[in-house]
Amino acid sequence: MRSEGAISLQGVFCMNLLRRIRDIFQQKGDGRSPGPCRNRFLKQSSWHWRLNLFLLILFTLFIGEAFSQKSEFNYSDCLFGKLGTLSVSVARIDRQSGVIECNGGDTAQPSQPFSWDWGDGFRSEGFFPQTHQYKDRHRNYVIRVTSHYQDGGIDSEETLVCFLPFPPPSRRIALPEDVRVSIPREKPKLQPVRAPYGLSPSLTVFDDSFFQICSRESAEYLLTITAAIQLDLANNNVCKTKGRFEQALLRDPASGGMYSIWYTDPAGLGAGDYAFKGDLQWSSLFHEMGHNVTLNSPADYHWGFRQDGPANTIYSETMAQIFQHATACELLNNPEKYGIEGDWAFDIARSARASMQIVRRSYENYRKQGCHFCSWNDENTKNDDTFDTFMTIAFKFFEHAERNRKGYRTPVKRIMEFMQRFNPEWEAGFSARINSPSAEQFRATLSVAALSYAFNQDLRKEFLELRFPVDDNMFQKLMTAPEKSTR
Ligand SMILES: [Zn+2]
Repeated sequence: MRSEGAISLQGVFCMNLLRRIRDIFQQKGDGRSPGPCRNRFLKQSSWHWRLNLFLLILFTLFIGEAFSQKSEFNYSDCLFGKLGTLSVSVARIDRQSGVIECNGGDTAQPSQPFSWDWGDGFRSEGFFPQTHQYKDRHRNYVIRVTSHYQDGGIDSEETLVCFLPFPPPSRRIALPEDVRVSIPREKPKLQPVRAPYGLSPSLTVFDDSFFQICSRESAEYLLTITAAIQLDLANNNVCKTKGRFEQALLRDPASGGMYSIWYTDPAGLGAGDYAFKGDLQWSSLFHEMGHNVTLNSPADYHWGFRQDGPANTIYSETMAQIFQHATACELLNNPEKYGIEGDWAFDIARSARASMQIVRRSYENYRKQGCHFCSWNDENTKNDDTFDTFMTIAFKFFEHAERNRKGYRTPVKRIMEFMQRFNPEWEAGFSARINSPSAEQFRATLSVAALSYAFNQDLRKEFLELRFPVDDNMFQKLMTAPEKSTR
């Protein structure tokens, strides 16, 4: 969204300014400045100098606090702000000619053409899609698109055009030995070990042409950090092979999206070409990796396969949504720790916010359509009947996490701790392959109990208002289930 993009850039700018103020300040007093200046400074340390110094410190701290608040990454605007209908993305970049193509749209379907600010001094009016040619291809640009509505209102969205590659990570944290994500140049052998499923025959590898903006090594580093974060979120309670959790990201040109290959060793991710063409699909990659972790959990009785079928989404998709957005939040709130800064961080934020907008829209849609809880995807219907339901559960999780303002790590670890109690009795109640009112009731109650456990708060009332068929006896039983030891 316009305001979010502006805050991100402003936050980075403000942090830089703050650092500069601090640098100047430190130089004055650290003894490295040339003698005469330092002496002059010391000689003038009378009471009014001390007062000025005190005020300057106060000012710096105040500005620092204000700036650090601005630069904190969260999803509040996406979740609670005005619900935007406009979306914009870079669909294609020709780095030779400088021609780019922008896609997107506005579900409010305004009749007036959109305003385009291309970030290079050029502006135009027109409907989606639009193309533009950049003369200077030695820098990146932020494109800003504005909708004009009949009531006089406007909405804006921004997106990044990258001609310059992201710099390598400014620093690399030491990664755990047992976690690794590779984007191999040669196709590895993925051995199905946790479910009797095959592999798409169109799976192949991403060649070097896909890594013009983010190098293969940088992407592997980022995704390996992601895996480490996600394993921590899953309390490190996942199926491993010889103590290792490895994932390979592969190309599937026949796929228009992405999918998790959670059941193989190493685990895999299949991604269509769009993952590294145009806007980079960070949030979707985090999502599929979230599937790999949560379906392989808990280590002694993994959800994957046991929950597969028309009822899978209430567990698998809800958890993947939670994992993808919690991961982005952890990365973006610690850019210096992970060495992911500048345009790269901006791009991850863009991707995470765009996917959070989808969660919000689905939740609003669930309510607008009269709150029809559905945990069973009828194979005879065109769309996923459960979509708005599982997105509503994810939305409620994010709503509580944001309102608590204590971050995502603790509630995600707790919801996983709860879900890691999965056992044969729960499996029977979940009834992955046969639907019934009591199975719907179990799945609804399980979700509400999991969120209640995550936030240490009984959320039944909120979910009854959303017409979730929660059963009180079942809820009590689930909440008092003995905890299994966490590995
Ligand atoms: Zn998914």
